[in-house]
Amino acid sequence: MSDYNWCHNPDCHKIQTQSRIRGSGDNKVLRTVKIKVYQPETPHIYDFFCNQNCLHQFLRKFCREIANIRPVKQPSETPIKIEKTKEESYRYRHNDNGAYERVPYIATRTTINSVDNDNG
Ligand SMILES: [Zn+2]
Repeated sequence: MSDYNWCHNPDCHKIQTQSRIRGSGDNKVLRTVKIKVYQPETPHIYDFFCNQNCLHQFLRKFCREIANIRPVKQPSETPIKIEKTKEESYRYRHNDNGAYERVPYIATRTTINSVDNDNG
């Protein structure tokens, strides 16, 4: 069994492409794009929008409604541990002969580590 969705951009049918033309003779229309859904059990954003342009037209038009689906009134925070390590690295310097020379230096690498919060 195959499933289909119509593109959810309310203006999909106003975009002038050959692929949207339907009808015969003098009764031609531009029609909303029909999208084949291959895996309904694992929905994908492009099961609902025929392309990026339609997705973004929809997002621009309904951004407030979308944000109100899951309002964010305050920031969230993820506990982390910062690890700083020194390591030898190189930068390249242009010299007077028009060539590059390799110059060693000690770089500081910052690593962000997750904190296991399950016990806390
Ligand atoms: Zn569309």
